Amino acid sequence: MFRLKSIILDHLKHTAGTEARMLPDPDKVLIPMSMHIGTPCEPVVKKGDHVLAGQKIGDSEAKMSVPVHASISGTVTDIKDYRLLNGKTCKAVEISSDGKHKTADCSPPEITDKASFLKAVRESGACGLGGAGFPVHIKLDLKKETDTLIINAAECEPYITSDYRQMVEKPDEVLGGIRLVMKYTGIAGTVIAIETNKPDVIEDFEKLTADIPEINVLKLPSVYPQGAEKVLVYSCTGRIVGEGEIPADQKVIVMNVSTVAFLYRYCCTGIPLISRRITVEGTAVKNPLNIFAPVGTMVKELLEFTGTDINDVRKLVAGGPMMGSCLMTADTPVVKTSNSFIADREYTEPVTTSCIRCGRCVRACSMNLMPLMIEKAFINRNTSELKRLRAGLCMNCGACTYVCPANRRLAETNQLAKELIR
Ligand code: SF4
Ligand code: SF4
Repeated sequence: MFRLKSIILDHLKHTAGTEARMLPDPDKVLIPMSMHIGTPCEPVVKKGDHVLAGQKIGDSEAKMSVPVHASISGTVTDIKDYRLLNGKTCKAVEISSDGKHKTADCSPPEITDKASFLKAVRESGACGLGGAGFPVHIKLDLKKETDTLIINAAECEPYITSDYRQMVEKPDEVLGGIRLVMKYTGIAGTVIAIETNKPDVIEDFEKLTADIPEINVLKLPSVYPQGAEKVLVYSCTGRIVGEGEIPADQKVIVMNVSTVAFLYRYCCTGIPLISRRITVEGTAVKNPLNIFAPVGTMVKELLEFTGTDINDVRKLVAGGPMMGSCLMTADTPVVKTSNSFIADREYTEPVTTSCIRCGRCVRACSMNLMPLMIEKAFINRNTSELKRLRAGLCMNCGACTYVCPANRRLAETNQLAKELIR
């Protein structure tokens, strides 16, 4: 049984009040063939081909995969191996811009029933934009009775405001996407889950849904990790997604708010997932901003757009400060799941000391795990103990690492422990 434990973080959402700005097409993009969970795509273009924005450049026969599209128009100048943040490699297509931003012949998909909707969702290249990258057409192909669609609008990590700006700037896209999903999946009710640190969008969506009884707005305490999928399902429905289960096992699906908004845009325009809203923040960033950028843009170009001197950056993180991954270089491309980059001036390697058995990590864990014990079992490679400690439930939220006075890398170790018992 969950005891919903959580931690309080500073929100630091300095970009919340500023409208997202459009990045001009970069001279070059590098588009990885794997930006989603599942089988990487194979390029369907070759070096020297001219491509248009929105044209398919990669696809796969595998069900658990989504196609990849060119984000700018220009010439394919290279197809090379690319190392992903998880250490795996895939092909990546480099496109040099022709400076014209010519768009492929995109028209709204013809949708008449569930099958044509799911086909369109796949063709859009949609995967979860909250960071998970799960193919959306798989999630919406419901195999079990499902009564609730939860829209994850919690955005509980500090700094990140890309989902918030989506709700402020284009709330109609959010509602349009929800209606599409409800219509073609048959889900009867939706909960839009928003943390109380966003009172303006709570008010807006309460007004917008006042006459729609099947769509409800739920105010959630602004605590971390409120937006984690299992935590959110419990907060919204009281149902527990157990170890080895997914939300569908509890008659629920969870979609990120920007993902559902993208689906609506795609169904209206036929333009696939080739750009996204990204928060660029941190102490080294001169003008923190949300930027609408083509997929494949190098992070250094986002930083330059904010007036940041790249030489000032000592630490660069893809994602939020709690769950993000450090980048080795700003020559890293934006991918479909990039919601934020944080560039800091200072970085001091924390000094790790011995566990003092204070229990703070245990008190911080929403999953009721014992991070200190999982760490010990992992060091001893004791897989049966790791299973007994239910290490598989760890969602890498980082709350245990954050509170640990000994600076132990508990969340990182827990991820390795999960791999060991997988
Ligand atoms: S918070 Fe750190 S020091 Fe305290 S019990 Fe957990 S691992 Fe040990
Ligand atoms: S990272 Fe894992 S163990 Fe640590 S608090 Fe989060 S869920 Fe618990």
